Amino acid sequence: MHTTIVHISEDLIDLLHPGCRSIDFVYTFSGNPAIKHLIEAIGIPHTEVGQVEVNDIPIDFKYKVQNGDHIKVWGVKNANISNITTETDKEARFILDNHLGKLAAYLRMLGFDTLYQNNYQDPELAIIASKQNRILLTRDRRLLMRSTINRGYWLRSQHPQQQAIEVIKRFKLIGKSKPFHRCLRCNGFIIPISKEAILDKLLPLTRRYYEEFYICQSCNQIYWKGSHYEHMLNILRNMEV
Ligand SMILES: [Zn+2]
Repeated sequence: MHTTIVHISEDLIDLLHPGCRSIDFVYTFSGNPAIKHLIEAIGIPHTEVGQVEVNDIPIDFKYKVQNGDHIKVWGVKNANISNITTETDKEARFILDNHLGKLAAYLRMLGFDTLYQNNYQDPELAIIASKQNRILLTRDRRLLMRSTINRGYWLRSQHPQQQAIEVIKRFKLIGKSKPFHRCLRCNGFIIPISKEAILDKLLPLTRRYYEEFYICQSCNQIYWKGSHYEHMLNILRNMEV
């Protein structure tokens, strides 16, 4: 058996297996595993890693761990250099795990391209994320450890509004939101439509009090800037995005 000394940054501690949550520890291993596998074996998905050094030299995930190595792992937040998976320069397009319906609505509210279905299975999520180069958002660490996942994030909070704030900070999206741009129901684009064109679809009070309407190009859902719109703006103001 071999040993290595591991140091991790504080933002990664909550990802470690319960019972071994410490910034510094000795790790025992056999053979010469790739460092990516060692990091995931202690509980940290590769998508959460910003930088790794071995014996004070920056390395990539393919590095084979040697007996006696001193390993330092930084989370994305605390890394000095850009993320190993370098997603921050790319367009933020998301796919969400199937327990995150409310977060999907918030991200669509903000105008971000967000795929969500409550019946996606794990292999399907991984395939779509990989093929479409989408960022996988989940509370399931094991899902992020799949080798096909390049871009992902493990949500710390269990509260949808707080999760949206986490995503905005993690992917540097402040100032990039486009409210009233995407359908909350299906992720399609919404565009203006004349009142006359949809008059027969409106309830009497909506017909009487509103003049400006929008329609989803994909599912034909109709939107107008009523009380739900004010509610949405209040939510966005609270998120300070
Ligand atoms: Zn729609």
